Amino acid sequence: MNPLYNVNFSEAQLAWREKAHEIAVKYLLPQSMQHDKAESFNEDAFQAAADAGMLGVWIPKEYGGSDDGILGLALMVEEFSKADPAFGVAFAVNALGSLPIIVGGTHEQKAKYLPLVAQGKAACAFALSEKFAGSDAGGLSVRGTKEGDTWTICGEKKWTTNGSRANIITCFAVTDPESRSRRISAFIIEDTDPGFSIKKLEDKMGIRSVPVCETVFDGVKVGDDRLIGGKPGLGFKHSMMTLDLARPGVAAQAVGTAAGALELATTYATRRKQFGQTIAGFQMIQAMLADMAQQTEAARTLVHTCAAMADQRAPNVTKIAAMAKCFATDVAVKVATDAVQVFGGYGFMEDYPIAKYYRDSKILQIYEGTNQVQRMVIARNLIKEASRHDYLNSVIPTETQESYGAEPVTANV
Ligand SMILES: Cc1cc2nc3c(=O)[nH]c(=O)nc-3n(C[C@H](O)[C@H](O)[C@H](O)COP(=O)(O)OP(=O)(O)OC[C@H]3O[C@@H](n4cnc5c(N)ncnc54)[C@H](O)[C@@H]3O)c2cc1C
Repeated sequence: MNPLYNVNFSEAQLAWREKAHEIAVKYLLPQSMQHDKAESFNEDAFQAAADAGMLGVWIPKEYGGSDDGILGLALMVEEFSKADPAFGVAFAVNALGSLPIIVGGTHEQKAKYLPLVAQGKAACAFALSEKFAGSDAGGLSVRGTKEGDTWTICGEKKWTTNGSRANIITCFAVTDPESRSRRISAFIIEDTDPGFSIKKLEDKMGIRSVPVCETVFDGVKVGDDRLIGGKPGLGFKHSMMTLDLARPGVAAQAVGTAAGALELATTYATRRKQFGQTIAGFQMIQAMLADMAQQTEAARTLVHTCAAMADQRAPNVTKIAAMAKCFATDVAVKVATDAVQVFGGYGFMEDYPIAKYYRDSKILQIYEGTNQVQRMVIARNLIKEASRHDYLNSVIPTETQESYGAEPVTANV
């Protein structure tokens, strides 16, 4: 039988959610369209979140955080994203960028950097992707070479979210090109390190108020104290552990995006009149709204389960994290698309914020692993698990497969 996990919201987690809602109403709803147009970051909202201690929610208490976990993070990100999906990702990337230190850092690294993140004094970014290495993270070309006690990092990263705002950038570089399993190491780069620079701010379809950049590491020199975990070759493992814990955050961003689009569409449907009645009275509009609500609620439940499982260090968080990311982000795109349909021609214009939800939603299916990649991860795990379903041997015996000419099922994926 599959193990079941309780989802219990602590008082503290619910209080963070409430606080996020307050900040969203005060700073995000009134400003999100302006920031989107100007491509400017909502510093007011970020400062309010920092002042409230919200950047320490996923950080352990001994390193200055409140230790309210991935579930605490997901609850806040949903509230922010409901008001402004772009701010939701800008906030969540602080978790993405600091998680490699949390999952793999030495005590000294955690003690030096995590309190700064928790206090909102240092913003974070996560630099894995490159121009020619996106889904295939094993194909990185940024190099880390060691001479004496000094590492030199050389190369360029693509699409570093928060890159131009971040003070701490966790950067993944090839340190042993000959090795298959220990090729990559992760480094902590500070924005003031000589050789680090921003090459270009990307011009994007959505999440326009968040800076996404090409980042350059032109001979950045660091010591072993910046090598995450203090040993080379652990970077790929740390990146995968990080993504398992960060994907519930993207999924929560998707739930918030869907919930915000649904609320706008429902409100619009009760105001807009055609044929002498509000469009909310038409059954086809009602069916769309009902489907949007069901999908959003299902995604929310899956995200909460996934976040609780991550906090309880459940085995195989990888599969549920991929499911939550894939399902919730597909829902966000579907719900935002249908919300535009409810708005009719006005949905296609920038008069109302609904077009922004539509534009902001699409990236959710692409970053932190495309949804094709998530489906691969889910399927691989299912196939591995199938080899353990011994009790089904009587239902689908090997002879049956052989008699149909099929290969026996293996877990070789
Ligand atoms: C706005 C934005 C912000 C981002 N932020 C960050 C960040 O902060 N840090 C960071 O490191 N990266 C970031 N990224 C990078 C992002 O994670 C990658 O874009 C993503 O992983 C996909 O890589 P790619 O764009 O190179 O697409 P590709 O890997 O080239 O994929 C192209 C298409 O092929 C499909 N595909 C690829 N391989 C397979 C396969 N084996 N089977 C089936 N289909 C496949 C993909 O699903 C996709 O549809 C960001 C990207 C964007 C656009």
